[in-house]
Amino acid sequence: MAAAVTELYPETQLGIGPVIDNGFYYDFLFKDPISESDLLLIEKKMKEIQRRNDEFIKESWTKKEANAFFKKQKQSFKLDLIKEIPEKEVGIYRTGGFTDLCKGPHIKKSSEIGVFKLLSLAGAYWRGSEQNQMLTRIYGTAWKTKQELDEHLNYLKEVEARDHRKLGKDLDLFSFNPEVGAGLALWHSKGAFVRKIIEDFWKEKHLEQGYQLVNTPHIASLDLWKTSGHWDFYRENMYAPFKIENQEYVAKPMNCPLHIKIFQTHQASYRDLPVRIGELGTVYRYERSGVLHGLLRVRGFTQDDAHIFCRSDQYEKEIERILGLTVEMLKSFGFNDYQIFLSTRPEKYIGTDAIWKKATNGLEDALKGYGLKYEEDKGGGTFYGPKIDLKIKDALGRFWQCSTIQLDFNLPERFDIYYIDEKGKKQRPIMIHRAVFGSLERFVGILIEHYAGIFPVWLAPIQARILPVGEDFTEYAHTILEKLKKIGIRAEIDHANATVGKKIRQGELDKIPYLLVVGDREVKGNSVSVRSIKEKDLGPMSLEKFIEKISKEIKEKS
Ligand code: ZN
Repeated sequence: MAAAVTELYPETQLGIGPVIDNGFYYDFLFKDPISESDLLLIEKKMKEIQRRNDEFIKESWTKKEANAFFKKQKQSFKLDLIKEIPEKEVGIYRTGGFTDLCKGPHIKKSSEIGVFKLLSLAGAYWRGSEQNQMLTRIYGTAWKTKQELDEHLNYLKEVEARDHRKLGKDLDLFSFNPEVGAGLALWHSKGAFVRKIIEDFWKEKHLEQGYQLVNTPHIASLDLWKTSGHWDFYRENMYAPFKIENQEYVAKPMNCPLHIKIFQTHQASYRDLPVRIGELGTVYRYERSGVLHGLLRVRGFTQDDAHIFCRSDQYEKEIERILGLTVEMLKSFGFNDYQIFLSTRPEKYIGTDAIWKKATNGLEDALKGYGLKYEEDKGGGTFYGPKIDLKIKDALGRFWQCSTIQLDFNLPERFDIYYIDEKGKKQRPIMIHRAVFGSLERFVGILIEHYAGIFPVWLAPIQARILPVGEDFTEYAHTILEKLKKIGIRAEIDHANATVGKKIRQGELDKIPYLLVVGDREVKGNSVSVRSIKEKDLGPMSLEKFIEKISKEIKEKS
């Protein structure tokens, strides 16, 4: 692609061009900006090069040679790159009239390139820094066969159709506004309703499991974050402190220290443990504007957070309980496939070898005890302890990091938390940090894409819409509405002066699970004609039968 670009636009400066998942990109600085339509032209040139069957020749140049060459070519980004290569020699590949820095390996001849397609254009700062020049990134994909390419293109179409940012707008779930600020979501009533149902479910499950549910403020004194170590180890993710009456505060990036402060208000004895403190706690973290992505990556978000304080003879069982709760809750949303990682001690850590070994074994035993397969992520743990990360597989086969369980020996030390043991002595508890969904923003974003916007009935903001076929049936529609509302089914009437065909079409666009058509036949039969978004036309049925059907689905979260 870069060879084709330089043949077509000789004055183009070249950035970098790595391989990415299922494809590649290259960053260019064009003399005159190009548009999407130019991609076809570049593709055509690429095919021409492919037919030329140029060889790829590998060479090794000294830095001096490479510098001289790229200087002459006026490729200043390449000069930047050469500066950073630690070796004396740099890898060079040549093909046709094109020369580039590259470690390789490469195919031997351009005819070996399979089928490819250029996909899109995007802006990208040189080196990802807003202080640098904005370059044009061209994305492409390449495959061995046309069939594989077509399958991939279909997959990309499906990904686009499910994009939660598009569906969020179409279904009136949430928005972002530049006057509010980037990465700060506004939840509209329908989106907030979906979130409320998830929150209620979360609270119910956690109360069942013996968690205390708490609320803590969005800002806290900077001193607290100095004690916790966040100000030293986590500052780059935090917003700048601000003053209130000579005391410095920050927006909280985590909930942990506040839960510790609640734990410390009562002196726990060995009998009181484990203490489980949970909160849907909103936190604020510094994310660069370039990485923000709809609800999936935001600057303010609500974690489904909890901290468990337990004895060293309890944490294994606690972790098994957390795994059980996590698997059960995720199943309710249709996630049955996971990738699990056990992350072990990183290079920088605190605590003794014995503690790390015991903790890591504990996590391992809990995973085995629960019969879950996992992979080891060597050195991927946090500085304060090992952890288990769980990635869920969505309807398109993509994996998303959500749940995490972390063991911590650090914060109990820093905050001097203790409980009184059987002998009346002070003992350090172990602290477990855990989240099932990760954050509500991210989880709802994933759900929208997983369901392609068609929420299962228990989550749908509107579960049924009544479509009277004409004004004469408004009264009957209202009796149906009242009956549904009385038993807690979220229903509404489409009063529009439109044909029933149009109303059905609108209902499908709004992704309402059930459309209930009512006309003469239904009034006479004391029934509704049911159209399900999943099962299509189900024909007339008595209202009682419909209520039975929908109630069962809600109850089973199916
Ligand atoms: Zn925590």
